[in-house]
Amino acid sequence: DTRLARIASAIRVIPDFPKPGILFQDITTLLLDTKAFKDTIDLFVERYRDQNINVVAGVEARGFIFGPPIALAIGAKFVPMRKPNKLPGEVISEEYSLEYGTDKMEMHVGAVQPGERALIIDDLIATGGTLGAAIKLLGKLVNTNVLWASKENPLSESC
Ligand code: 5GP
Repeated sequence: DTRLARIASAIRVIPDFPKPGILFQDITTLLLDTKAFKDTIDLFVERYRDQNINVVAGVEARGFIFGPPIALAIGAKFVPMRKPNKLPGEVISEEYSLEYGTDKMEMHVGAVQPGERALIIDDLIATGGTLGAAIKLLGKLVNTNVLWASKENPLSESC
């Protein structure tokens, strides 16, 4: 898809941020390129619009940028997966490991119903720890398989 090259070149790469040795992929420059930003959303919409998805779950914080326009376009609700102690209602949580220490992700109980199909959106996979926690957290609420996609594996299923 020719759109992918434009999207890739709109992402700025910053060495040694936020720490030495890390090559940070900065998506704020993609948001400045109106065509590349729209192409990004369109690609996801084209891939997921006919998949009977009820819920788009966005991972804080950059999943909150890309998730809502995808949700609106495919006719799904949007559910935030937040950092701890941000959501005011009853929450369900999942702890996960970071390079140093642990973190936690939370969702409102009742935001997703058993049997609904959910699409998880974040901007980037590094170790996969964040996405793994998001899948586990949704698995606690959604009683179906979780669809996952990557560049190498456009659409496959795992439990
Ligand atoms: P993982 O848990 O897969 O190791 O890291 C992915 C998470 O960290 C995502 O939530 C992502 O937003 C954030 N992240 C890690 N590295 C980068 C990066 O280089 N650029 C951006 N934009 N986010 C990153």
